[in-house]
Amino acid sequence: MTATAPSGESLWSRCGGCAALLYRKRLRRNLDVCPECGLHTRLAAPERVSQLVDPGSFRPLPDRAVEVDPIGFVDVLPYPHRLAAARADTGLAEAVLCGTATIGGSRCALAVMDFRFLGGSLGCAVGELITRTAEQALELDIALVLVTASGGARMQEGALSLMQMATVSQAMAALREVGLLTVSVLTDPTYGGVAASFATSADLVLAESGTRMGFAGPRVIRQVTGRTLPEGFQTAEFLLRHGQIDMVVPRHALRARLATLLAATRRRATNRPGATAPLPEAARPMPASRTPARDAWETVRLARHPGRPTTLDYLETTFDGFTELHGDRLGGDCPAVVGGVARLDGRHLMVIGHQKGHTTAELAARNFGMATPAGHRKALRLMRLAARLGLPVVTLVDTPGADPGVEAEEHGQAAAIAENILTLSVLPTPVVTVVTGEGGSGGALALAVADRVLMLQHAVYSVISPEGCAAILWPGRTAAPQAARALRLTAPDLCRLGVVDEVVPEPDGSAADDPEATARAVRQALLANLLPLLDVPTVTLVQRRRRRFRRFGAARAGARAGAR
Ligand SMILES: [Zn+2]
Repeated sequence: MTATAPSGESLWSRCGGCAALLYRKRLRRNLDVCPECGLHTRLAAPERVSQLVDPGSFRPLPDRAVEVDPIGFVDVLPYPHRLAAARADTGLAEAVLCGTATIGGSRCALAVMDFRFLGGSLGCAVGELITRTAEQALELDIALVLVTASGGARMQEGALSLMQMATVSQAMAALREVGLLTVSVLTDPTYGGVAASFATSADLVLAESGTRMGFAGPRVIRQVTGRTLPEGFQTAEFLLRHGQIDMVVPRHALRARLATLLAATRRRATNRPGATAPLPEAARPMPASRTPARDAWETVRLARHPGRPTTLDYLETTFDGFTELHGDRLGGDCPAVVGGVARLDGRHLMVIGHQKGHTTAELAARNFGMATPAGHRKALRLMRLAARLGLPVVTLVDTPGADPGVEAEEHGQAAAIAENILTLSVLPTPVVTVVTGEGGSGGALALAVADRVLMLQHAVYSVISPEGCAAILWPGRTAAPQAARALRLTAPDLCRLGVVDEVVPEPDGSAADDPEATARAVRQALLANLLPLLDVPTVTLVQRRRRRFRRFGAARAGARAGAR
């Protein structure tokens, strides 16, 4: 609702959320977010573009919108009349505004939908324009950013509208094939055919605060199911919790967040798959720390110490500029696995790790670092994304094991772990793993099939927990210390077995006593191991990784004798 000055100029508007009467200029200065209640009002596409891109950088795509009324559709009004009215109301030729621009200095192709134009519906012209924008991204070797706002496919163009879901998708697939980033920014509302195609098939899916997104709208779902919908159904927070999106971003932070993500994934010649840098010497394995080995059981207790730095601690200290990405896109966001883009000594990479916590409450909230199938699938999504974009992967392993619950089994825990192991074994980008605490069984290996596997001095890495082993092979659980010794699970032991390449020394006492020094040691070890891998052609890298894991098939007496 608007209040109009005698001149006809609208000076005030009433907030649709809290009914506050707002001075129009003040609202505009606040990016059309109500300063009273935070309601994000819907934006026209030109407004959205000016909020998102670097000033003066937007270059519209040549406006060659196709004129269509392919099925001669008439309801109470002929379709061409509705089109003409929408054009007059919005000043736009169609429900999307397309072009190229820079965001934080990174060039991208950009398509912004406008809900005012026939509900942002996806018809032939909209599909064509978004497809051309994607093709422009391909031609210019730049990322594609889509801002969606749509009720779905445009009924007035019949099945040809439905086909636009496939038309745009195949253009996005072409970007995926060559490793160009696609980002969608969901805005309120995004439904139907747009939600079920390019809005959610992008590499990264951000939702503006206040967005609702879904395949079917709430009214339809209520009609079909006869059920009352839960509070917050299909809201951005709901989508985040259910693993559908990477993050919820308030409007005032969108430009900066996009700038960070575009910069992190900008094409770099050295990172491109198939780069043919000269083959360097294979990285030399470094000798294990000279510090005298502790008793294995004592090491197990140090590895589990709640004071040890967690993955999020390392992301704060060892790395810079971490932007967390969430969700497996299949229904869950596991809190026991965190991942996202970050920098190490100025280089962009993907970091994925198990997250425990320091307090009982933190540990419980993070499921004690035990990943669910959703956690493994989130990690898988991020690994694959990193490979496509030419980002190296660093994984930090600290888990008692994968989640052993009923629900985990129902959702295919075994297959989720298996898929990660297989995918990592041939992932076409450098992978370095650090076992920072507990390397528990298959749950650990699901993040640890790497070119270089490093291990903190007092970390452990084992096929089963000492307690579990004792319970099966000894008369009782009290034999855990004996089992710990027998399992050869300490860093020096695993170095001798060739499972681990390098031991990262811990400060006096242990990592828990000096997290800063530990962070520095991890950083140094990561750089020493990662940098030589960056110049290795991807094909060679994968061949070497496969050989690395092939040789464990031949572990025989030699290794066993060495371990004794
Ligand atoms: Zn308000």
